Amino acid sequence: MSNTPVKETHAFQTEVKQLLDLMIHSLYSNKEIFLRELISNASDAADKLRFEATTDDALYENDSDLHVYIEANKDERTITIRDNGIGMNRDEVIANIGTIARSGTKEFFGQLSGDQEKDAHLIGQFGVGFYSAFLVADKVTVTTRRAGLEKEHGVRWESTGDGQYDIETITKDARGTEIVLHLREEADEFLESFRLTSIIHKYADHIPFPIRMMGTPTPAAEGEEEKPAEIETINQASALWTRPKSELSDEEYNNFYKHIGHDFEDPLTRLHQKLEGKYEYTLLLYMPKRAPFDLWQAEAKHGVKLYVRRVFISEATEDLLPRYLRFVRGVMDTNDLPLNVSREILQQSPAMNAMKKGATKRVLGMLEDMAKNASNENSDYATAWKEFGNCLKEGIIEDTDNRDRIAKLLRFSTTKDDEQTVSLTDYVERMVENQDTIYYITAETLAAAKHSPHLEVFRKKGIEVLLLSDRIDEWLTSHLTEFDSKKLQSIAKGELDLSNIGDNAEEDKKEHEEAIKSAEPAVKKLKESLGDKVKDVRTTDRLTDSPACLVSDQFDMTGNMERILKQAGQDVPSVQPILEINPEHDLVKRLAKMRSKDKIADFSDILFDQAILAEGALPEDPAGFVRKVNSLLTQ
Ligand code: ADP
Ligand code: MG
Repeated sequence: MSNTPVKETHAFQTEVKQLLDLMIHSLYSNKEIFLRELISNASDAADKLRFEATTDDALYENDSDLHVYIEANKDERTITIRDNGIGMNRDEVIANIGTIARSGTKEFFGQLSGDQEKDAHLIGQFGVGFYSAFLVADKVTVTTRRAGLEKEHGVRWESTGDGQYDIETITKDARGTEIVLHLREEADEFLESFRLTSIIHKYADHIPFPIRMMGTPTPAAEGEEEKPAEIETINQASALWTRPKSELSDEEYNNFYKHIGHDFEDPLTRLHQKLEGKYEYTLLLYMPKRAPFDLWQAEAKHGVKLYVRRVFISEATEDLLPRYLRFVRGVMDTNDLPLNVSREILQQSPAMNAMKKGATKRVLGMLEDMAKNASNENSDYATAWKEFGNCLKEGIIEDTDNRDRIAKLLRFSTTKDDEQTVSLTDYVERMVENQDTIYYITAETLAAAKHSPHLEVFRKKGIEVLLLSDRIDEWLTSHLTEFDSKKLQSIAKGELDLSNIGDNAEEDKKEHEEAIKSAEPAVKKLKESLGDKVKDVRTTDRLTDSPACLVSDQFDMTGNMERILKQAGQDVPSVQPILEINPEHDLVKRLAKMRSKDKIADFSDILFDQAILAEGALPEDPAGFVRKVNSLLTQ
C-alpha cells in the first residue's frame, strides 16, 4: 500500500457510465430513494463490522455505538451521511464504487433497448445502489477508513458523475464512511429536515441501527434559557422481524424487503413466522417478483441472512436453505446458536440442520399457498413459476425428502396447453380411460416437441402429453419417475402399447396387424441398408401421418440428451437409435415394393434423415439429404 500514488484519476467502467445516464433519465421523479440506498449501505456496513468484531473486539476502536448520522447544511447546500461501520480500504473503494462487480452486469446492459420506459423497468430489477447519490447531487465526496487500519490509510473519493473519479489517500480519524452530497439546484427540498425525517420514516424505520439527526433548538420559555438542539434518533431502530405482525404494514414489510433483497420492486409474497419447538427461530422470508441476474451462475448468491440474537452473522449460504431455493430473500434469526459461530460449526450444527429443514418446509408451504390461489397464467404463481420454475425442478433432483411436495408445484406445457400451467395433478385428473401412465416428450424447443411425429397417435387418441423443452427436463425426468403412483414415460423411448386405450381399439388392432405384415419387406430393406446407423428397425402404431420416427431403447439416453451433453462439450458415446416406421404410410408401402438397390439405399437414408429432422436436429450430411430428396422429386 505504501507505494500507491497519493492522488489518481480513474475512469468509470463503461457500465457505470451507462447506469448513471439511464438512472438519471428513468428515476428523476423518484429522487428520494437516494437516502434509502445510502442508509441501506451504511446499515450493511454496520452489520459487517459487528460480525467481524465478534472475533476481533479491537475493531470497535472503543466505539461500539453503531449508528448513522445525517446532516443537512443549507449554506453549503450539502447533505452528509456518516456511519461508523466497517469502512473501505483503497482497493475496496475502487472495486465497489467505480465498477459494478456484480455478476450478470454485461447481460443486463445487453438487454437494454434504448426505450426509456422499458429500460426504466429493467433498472428496477438491477438496482442502482450507491449511484443513486447522483440523482440529487452533481458532486459526491466519499471519505472512508476501514476498521482496523491505521488513520493514515483513509481514502477520499470524489466524482461529478461524468465519467471519472479522483481517489486519494488521506488521514481519517474515525473509522467508517462519510458521504457528502453536493446538491443539484433542483434538489433543494432535501435540505429541509422535515423532508429528510419523513423519508427516513418511510424507508428506514426497520433499519436496526439508530439513524440520528440534529433536532431543532427549543425556544426559550419565560425566564428560562433557550434549550440547545439535541441529537435525536429518527427511526424505530429495532429489527423489523422481532416486531409483532399486527404492528407492521405492508409498506414496512416491503421496504425491508427492498433493503435486504437489494431490489427495487415489491416482493410477490412473504412469510413471517416465529417458530418455537425444540429450537426457537424467527423467519421473515420473501418471494421476489423477478429472478436476480446471477440465478443461473455457479456462484449465485443465496438470499437469506442469518442473525443470532439480532446480530448479523453471515451472508446467505447453503446452510440456511438448500441451493434450489436460492431465490428466496429474507432473514432467519435464532437464539440457539452461539454468536461466534464459524462456518464449520454451522454446517455440523443439529440446530442449524433442523432450522434449515423447517425453513424449507415453510418456503414450500408459501409456494403451495400461492399455487392454490392461482387461477390463470397471470397469477402470482405463474409469475413465480416463470422466474423460478427451473429452480424447483432442481429441487426434485436435490431434495428427495420433499420430492412429492415439489412435484405438485411443477407446471408444464402440454399438448392441450402451451402456457406452462398444467400441474401433474391436473394431468392425472384428465387421463383418459385405461390410461395409467403419464406421457412426456423432451425436445430442444417447445416447437420441436409440439410437432414431433411421436405425438401423432396420442393426438388421435386424445391422450395428453407433457411437452418438455428445458435442458434440465432430461435430468428432471430421470429423477421423477413416478407421480401419484403413475409412471412417467417418455414417448420417444422403448416400445409403446396404446392398444387398450381409446375407441375402436379392437378394430384398429386388427387392421394394424395386417399392415404390419405387408410392411415386413420394408423393415428388412431398411435394416440392410441402414446397417450400423440403427439399433433396430420395427413397425409402430405411434405414427399416423409421418412415415418414420426415431426412438431410444428404454434404458438408453434420448437423442435430445445426447445432443445436450455434446453441446456442453462432453465426450459421450453415440447411442444407436431405433427406427420405427408407419406400416400404413404410402412411402413405406412403396419401399416394400422397391427393387433397385440404389433406390432402396437412397430411400432408406431419406426416411432416416427425415426422422432426425423431425426431432429438430440436423442429419449427418444435410447436403446429401437434399440431393437425394431432389433426385426423388424429379423422378
Ligand atoms: P449493494 O449495496 O447492492 O452491494 P451499492 O451500489 O449500494 O450496491 O454498494 C456497492 C458496494 O459499495 C457495497 O456492496 C459496499 O461494499 C460498498 N459500500 C457502499 N457504501 C458503503 C458504506 N457506507 N460503508 C462500507 N461500504 C460501502
Ligand atoms: Mg446498497
